[in-house]
Order: sequence, then C-alpha cells, then structure tokens
Amino acid sequence: MSDTGRRRAHADVLIVGAGHAGAQAAIVLRQRGFAGTITLLGDEASPPYERPPLSKDYLAGDKAFERILLRPAGFWAERDIVLMLGHAVVRVDAESHCVVTADGTEIGYGTLVWATGGAPRRLACHGHDLAGVHGVRTRADVDRMIAELPAVRRVVVIGGGYIGLEAAAVLAKLGKHVTVLEAQDRVLARVAGEPLSRFYEAEHRAHGVDLRTGVAVSCIEERDGAACGVRLDDGAILPCEMVIVGIGIVPAIAPLIEAGATGAMGGVLVDAQCRTTVPDIFAIGDCAAHANAFADGRVIRLESVQNANDQAMIVGKALTGAPEAYEAVPWFWSNQYDLKLQTVGLSAGYDDLVVRGDPAERSFSVVYLEAGRVIALDCVNRVRDYV
Ligand SMILES: Cc1cc2nc3c(=O)[nH]c(=O)nc-3n(C[C@H](O)[C@H](O)[C@H](O)COP(=O)(O)OP(=O)(O)OC[C@H]3O[C@@H](n4cnc5c(N)ncnc54)[C@H](O)[C@@H]3O)c2cc1C
Repeated sequence: MSDTGRRRAHADVLIVGAGHAGAQAAIVLRQRGFAGTITLLGDEASPPYERPPLSKDYLAGDKAFERILLRPAGFWAERDIVLMLGHAVVRVDAESHCVVTADGTEIGYGTLVWATGGAPRRLACHGHDLAGVHGVRTRADVDRMIAELPAVRRVVVIGGGYIGLEAAAVLAKLGKHVTVLEAQDRVLARVAGEPLSRFYEAEHRAHGVDLRTGVAVSCIEERDGAACGVRLDDGAILPCEMVIVGIGIVPAIAPLIEAGATGAMGGVLVDAQCRTTVPDIFAIGDCAAHANAFADGRVIRLESVQNANDQAMIVGKALTGAPEAYEAVPWFWSNQYDLKLQTVGLSAGYDDLVVRGDPAERSFSVVYLEAGRVIALDCVNRVRDYV
C-alpha cells in the first residue's frame, strides 16, 4: 500500500512492542498530558501483561492471566491509546517515517519508540527446535508448557540463570523430577558473586533438583519428532519429556539496524534520553544499549522491569517537553521456593564482597564493593538490608 491511492494509518507516537516498556511509555505519555495520537503495536495476541510471573506464579498455576495484565482490558481505549495486537513490524523506513508490518500494513509515525525486548536465545545443537523444547518469554510459551505438563515426569532445564532456576523451583514444587544443567562452574555466574550462587545451588539440591555445573550439552535426543532426552558432551543421556532453555535473549532489533541505527551489546545504542542514532526513533527496555552510570559509564543492556519502566519515563518526559537523562538505580528481584531475592546496583567489577547475616538461616545479604565503595547488594529474605 502506498500514500498515493489509499490513506495509510498514522500515529504521532508509534510504540512498537506492547510489553513492559512499550505499555509504560504509552501510560506515561497520557499521564503527562500528551494529547497526540498514540498507537501501541505488538506481535503477541494478548494485551500487555507482566512477564516476571511467567516463570513464577503463572507457571505454577497460582495466578490467572487476568491477574497479570498490566492494566485492565478497557484501560487502553479509555486513554485513547490504539492497541494493535498480533502485528509484527518487519521494516522501518526512517526517511519516510513509516513502519511496515508482516502483512504489509504501513503505519506512519511522528516519533517511533522501539520497545521490542528480545526472543529467547536458542541452542545451536541438533534438536533445538523439537516439540517439548521451550523458551520462557511469552504467555504463549508458558501456556504450551502448562498444556504439556500433565504428561511430563522429567524436565531438564538448560541454563542456571534466574529464569531457568525459577522455572526449576516451580516444577520441583509441582513434583517433577528436575535436572538443571549449567555450563559454567556455578549458577548465576554472570550476575552474582559466589556466595549467592552456592546458596541457590544448595537450596535447589535440598528441594530434590539434580543440579549440575560445568556440563556442556551436545544435542537434544528425539523420539517421534519430540524431545526425549538431553545428551551431554561426555555421551551421557538424561531422559526427559520436557526441555526448558534459559540461556538469555537475542534483542529484536533487526528492522532498526537495517534502517541505519547503530547497534551495541547485541541491542540498539541509545543516548541518555533513549534516542537511537536515527532521528525521531527512541529505543527502551531490554533491547536498548545505554551508557549506565552504575556501570562506570559502560554501555550495557539491562533486562529488568525497573529499566523498562524508568526508560519509558525518560521517553515520556522527552516527548512532553521535560527532557531528563536516564540515571535510575538498577534493581531486580527473583522468587524461588520461599526465597525472595532483591538486588540493587550492579555488581559487575566488584573487587571485594562481604556477607551480612547467615546463609544457613536463609536470611542474608551479599554486599559488593569496588575500591572500598558499596556498588551493589543481593539480599535474600532480608528486606531491611535492601531498603
Ligand atoms: C520469565 C521471565 C521472568 C522475569 N522475571 C523478572 C523479575 O523477576 N524481575 C525483573 O525485574 N525482570 C524480570 N524479567 C525481565 C522483564 O520481564 C523484562 O526486562 C521486561 O519485560 C522488558 O520489557 P520490554 O518491554 O523491553 O520487553 P518485553 O516485555 O519482552 O516486550 C517486548 C514486546 O515486543 C514484542 N515484539 C518483539 N518484536 C516485535 C516486532 N518486530 N513487532 C512488534 N512487536 C514485537 C514482543 O513480542 C513483546 O511482546 C523476566 C522476564 C522473563 C521472560
């Protein structure tokens, strides 16, 4: 469709990606009195919902989908926000200020806010795409897992990061035989210090999880087109009916990069106000690589609700005449069993750490220091330290 002939749709602010960051950007714009047209476009079928419960209470069956909606169903229309669901943007034409969706629909924009998060990173080995192999990113991913669970006795979780460990905790509590495979010599190695890793390893083992570190996966074994086991590098096979892969995400930024935006850290580079290098295009949330004051100014990507919400606020302010630099303190949480972990700051680069409290009592904090200065805390069942 072209401009000549039929009139194409247009939004003063077009937000691509109806997840945490995109939804929050639309909310903030209206809260701040933005009177122009807003379209919130996403490729999922569901209206914006919270992602953290997907590996926690939603997977456990303790929370219905309606309870994890970011806003009630009627909210978007009430705020005059056009919600376009089930549409994926495949091309951005920065010059003519328009995007094209997979079905060929063109939408013009005054400002484009790119908030697409990322897709679960897939295994590179044989069997990565078999039935029974799951990533954990969307409601649809988890609904597929829930539907299969009654026929599942053994689950292998590949990746000992937060999402893999949270899913392992839920499935162990549901009575499944769970094995966690981590390639590094400890879980959570990318994000936390050794005392925290060792604590969570012991907790999972105490709950019956077969947790193995320093193991490499060779391939997924197949029977009748579905996964039936995980083969390790040493030839051992772990039989299972379900495989969960939690090895990070690949930011969904291809159309933006093709449109000329500069990439960084696997995402798209933004400045302190979340502007990409392409005029009138912002990027926020998991896909936005930014220089972070709490990482000594290094360019990083943060994958957290805090970052998604706070960057949405920065864009909202920039578009309503009150520009501000992004300087929010990073924070994060994870729930496993009856353990509530709260993290503040970024521990990367620490040269010393102190443990406050007693891991044996299941209430302690790991305090990270760099050159004698506290840079981050991981607090387990220890709200006082966190606050
Ligand atoms: C299972 C799980 C548990 C988590 N637990 C926690 C937690 O405990 N604490 C915490 O702080 N964070 C947690 N996170 C991280 C947090 O959910 C993310 O950081 C947050 O969702 C990022 O928001 P976002 O808007 O950048 O991306 P998303 O929320 O992923 O939203 C992006 C949306 O864009 C869509 N999209 C992608 N490409 C296109 C396209 N081309 N066109 C249209 N739409 C597109 C996606 O399908 C998605 O709907 C968790 C994440 C997951 C998956």
